Amino acid sequence: MCKLASRAYKEEDTIVQVGNVLIGGDEPVFIAGPCSIESAEQVGQIAQAVKGHAHILRGGAFKPRSSPYSFQGLAEEGLILLQRAGQEAGLPTVSEVVSPEDVELVAQYVDMLQIGARNMQNYALLKKVGRCGKPVLLKRGIAATIEEWLMSAEYIMSEGNPNVVLCERGIRTFEPLTRNTLDISAVPVVHHLSHLPVLVDPSHAAGKWDLVEPLALAAMAAGADGLMVEVHNHPDEALSDGPQSLLPKRYCQLVEKAREIRALAKRRKTNV
Ligand code: PEP
Ligand code: MN
Repeated sequence: MCKLASRAYKEEDTIVQVGNVLIGGDEPVFIAGPCSIESAEQVGQIAQAVKGHAHILRGGAFKPRSSPYSFQGLAEEGLILLQRAGQEAGLPTVSEVVSPEDVELVAQYVDMLQIGARNMQNYALLKKVGRCGKPVLLKRGIAATIEEWLMSAEYIMSEGNPNVVLCERGIRTFEPLTRNTLDISAVPVVHHLSHLPVLVDPSHAAGKWDLVEPLALAAMAAGADGLMVEVHNHPDEALSDGPQSLLPKRYCQLVEKAREIRALAKRRKTNV
C-alpha cells in the first residue's frame, strides 16, 4: 500500500496550488483546452473563449500518439504558444511530458506537468517529475488498478513533490462503444484511500463529444474536485481527438451545469 499518498498518513485533504488556482478545496476546478496545440491562433482563440469558465488552460505539445504516423505535437514551439495564450487569458497552464529528458524543458513553460495514461508506470519519468518543483497531474493508466495509480503518485511524492493531482480518464474494458470506460467509482474510492485531489477527464473516457457532458456531470455528482475537458474551436479540423472535443460554447454550458451538480453533491471527502 502507498504511504505518503494515503489518508492514513495524512487525514486532511491536500490542496494543490497551480498558479493562483487551488485544486482540492471547496470550489471545483475546471481545466480546458485543445488536445494538441496546433497554432497561435488555435490555442489563443480557445483560451479566450473558455477563460470565463476555466481555471487552467491545457494543451499538448509532446503527444503520446498510438500511431507513430499521427501528429506528434509542436514540442517547444507548442509550449511557447501555450504559455503566451495562458498569459493573455490570465490562466495558468498544464501540458504533458512524455520523457524524462524533457521534464526541465516543459517545466520552464508550464505551471503544471501532466503525466499521461500511457506513462503512468514510467518510473524514471515519475521520479524526474518528483524532483521538478512543479505540481503534477497524474492520469490513471489505461489498465491500472487504483492501488497501482496511487503507487505511481507515491513515486512522485517520495522524491519530495507533495503536489500531485490524480485524474481518472477511463480504463480499458471489453466495451467498444466508448473509447474507455469511465470508472466513476474511482472518485469516492480515491477520496477514501488518499488525501490527494482527484479530477475527472470525461473526454478521453468518452471518445465522442456528445457523451462528454453526461460523464462530466456524473463525475461531479461523485464528488470529483474538478474536470479536465478537451475543447476545440474547429473540432472537424483538429489534428488530434477532434471527435471528443467540445466547441467552446458547449463547454461553457457544461461548466454551468457541473457547478450546479457540485453544489448538490458537496460533502466532506473524509466522510466517504
Ligand atoms: C491527453 O490528455 O491529451 C491525453 C493524451 O490523455 P491520456 O493520457 O489520458 O490518454
Ligand atoms: Mn487528447
